[in-house]
Parts: sequence; C-alpha cells; structure tokens
Amino acid sequence: MTASTTVRLDVPIDDLFGIHNLPYGVYSLPGRAPRVGTRYGEHVVDLATLLGDDVFAGPSLNPFMAQGHDRWVQVRSAVTAALSEDVPRAAVHSASDVSLHLPFDVADYVDFYASEHHAANLGRLFRPDNPEPLMPNWKHLPVGYHGRSASIVVSGTDIIRPAGQRKGPNDPAPVFGPSVRLDIEAELGFVVGTGSALGEPVAAGRAEKHLFGVVLFNDWSARDIQAWEYVPLGPNLGKSFASTVSPWVVPLLALEEAKVRTPVQEPEVLPYLALDEPWGLDIDLEVEWNGEVVSRPPYAAMYWSPAQMLAHLTVNGAPTRTGDLFASGTVSGPAKEQRGAFIELTWGGAEPVTVAGERRTFLEDGDEVVLRATAPGAGGTRIGFGEARGRVVAARHGREV
Ligand code: MN
Repeated sequence: MTASTTVRLDVPIDDLFGIHNLPYGVYSLPGRAPRVGTRYGEHVVDLATLLGDDVFAGPSLNPFMAQGHDRWVQVRSAVTAALSEDVPRAAVHSASDVSLHLPFDVADYVDFYASEHHAANLGRLFRPDNPEPLMPNWKHLPVGYHGRSASIVVSGTDIIRPAGQRKGPNDPAPVFGPSVRLDIEAELGFVVGTGSALGEPVAAGRAEKHLFGVVLFNDWSARDIQAWEYVPLGPNLGKSFASTVSPWVVPLLALEEAKVRTPVQEPEVLPYLALDEPWGLDIDLEVEWNGEVVSRPPYAAMYWSPAQMLAHLTVNGAPTRTGDLFASGTVSGPAKEQRGAFIELTWGGAEPVTVAGERRTFLEDGDEVVLRATAPGAGGTRIGFGEARGRVVAARHGREV
C-alpha cells in the first residue's frame, strides 16, 4: 500500500486506551450502519477493515463473542500486532467523530449483591431493628435477582425518572407518583461470551472460558418504590426502568494484571463455589455527580468473585447465552467516601452531601452521574473503562401511549 492509504498510529503506552487495553465496542459514523471497533488512544479502529473479517461488520459483538475463548485470544493478538504497524487509513476514525452504541445484544440479565460493605449498610438502613445487618444466607451464596435486559441502555442515554407506588412508614396507604428517592448503584457488569447448556453448570474454575469482558454498570434505583415492593420477592419496578452500561467492553484478557485474591471467605463456601485461587479484580471506580467526584469505590474489596457468581448462576442447571450480563451489585468499600450508592453516602437521606455547591440526598431532575474506572494493565500501565454517563429527566407518568 502507498503512504496515503495507510497510517501509523502513535498512542502513548500509558494511555488509558493504550495497546494493553483494546476494548471492543460498536460505533457508527453519521448516516452509516453501526460496526464493531476498538478504541486505541483517541482513535476508533474498524475491526472488519483492519482484520478483513466480516464477523466485525455488524452492529453487535455477539457473533464474535459466540466464536469462543480461543478466537478471543487469537483476535486480541492479531489486533495488537496490526496496530503496531501501518494500518489502513479507511479503518481509522477519530473518537470524537463517531456515535457509540450498546455494544452487544443483552440476553438475560442478573444483578448480584457481592459487596459485604454495601449489603451490611443496606441491611442497617432497610432493617434498622435487626441487630444482624446481613441475612443468614449472605456469606453462603452470592445473592442475586433476575432483572430486565430490555432497559439496559448505553452511556449518554437520558434516564427518565420512574413513577410508581411508594408508601412511607407513616403513610396510611400507598401513593402513586414520580420517585422521590432516585439513586444510583456503581457496579461492574460481566459479559458472557459463550453460554452453557440447560442442565450443565459452569464450574467456577471454567468461568474464564465463558466470560468475555467487563463494562461499567449503573443500576439506577428508585429506593421508595423498591422499599415498598421488595418483600418478599425482591427488587422489581424499582430497578427495571433503566440501567446504563459503558460503550467499551474491556476484555477479561486485558485484566490479567488486575487479578487479586478476593477477601478471605469465612465460613468456608460449598465446593461448587470454591476455587484454588479465588480471583477478584483490582479495579478502582469513581462516581462523579454533577461534575464532582463524590466516591471512589474499590472493586478489589468485593466478597464474591465473578467466577463464583457465574458458577452460582448456573449451578441449578440454568443455561446461559452469548450476551448474558450479570452485574456485581453496588461496589462499596469500608470507608464512607468509598460508598457506591447515594442511599449509603447520605445514610438514607439523613446526611445530605454538598455536590457542586448544592445540597443533595437523592437525584434531582437535570442531575448527571458519570461512572469511570481504571485497572492495572500490562507493563505497569493502567487501562481505562471509559464512562457510563446518564442524566435524569423529568418523569412522564400521565403521558401513557
Ligand atoms: Mn444493583
């Protein structure tokens, strides 16, 4: 090829989207169909053009993810090699020129509750009369519930304030209206690349063969709706109105340096949840509220690991599919400034925080929340997850279609 048809991309090794990251996403140019790309520095590189492989020419990562772990390794190696040489100019776009889309077709969605600090704080807030903040099952299994995949949206999508029923402890009867306790949950989401058949559990030690990558996940939560509806079957409409994911899926293969031991689990877990070397991920999250960082939750403190969550999710024989997403539950550390939900940060609204000069307990219309995260990458670098951004807009109840 001549010099005019190729270009050499020089991206600093320590860029958060440097050569050791190479996340997958779906982008489009104005008036063009969405395709799979990777983010490299300030560039978005079209993978179908770079590799000459049509599995990347469509609007979803699912066909590639379904090809399996060996292919993920092979493609990552091929992209790394290709980007260290001249690449076709036609494959390269500026990140500022493209729109980013939901990167995969979300199949089933489950939300876990894997942070001991978060579960204990919520136990104290929701069940103040109970001396034991954790339920008796909490250290024996990763508690979770099935959510609504159809309301998972990509970063940048406005969040419509949900309406629903709520009943405060002193209200004589439930009332209907827009949520007045709209909250966030800073989480990570794990994307299943290859599924598992009905009746065939995924062993914890095999989870890495099934897990394709990691996204940021904001599980927007209406605490007033949740508090009234959740007994005895768990969260429903207080959660199912929207969840935001980041547009770049960071491959688990990029997170080898981020692996850490999970906290000691006592009592000992049942054999199906046991691993010789239980691994968590040393990922540092950041929660920005109206432009101000209000919390820095540490994922390394999570009690239950991604492998344990997948093993538990399938141990009854439930199948999984390409595009399944399971989220970790709110990431909260032991310190107040590490709490990943505003209900914890403001202690149920009793301790307002000052955000960009205004007092806040829960979210108001017009508020914007951005999640970000970084993790150790190869060669002493750090890799970035981009962002999961959402702005709250006014409720639309009463405008039924
Ligand atoms: Mn959640």
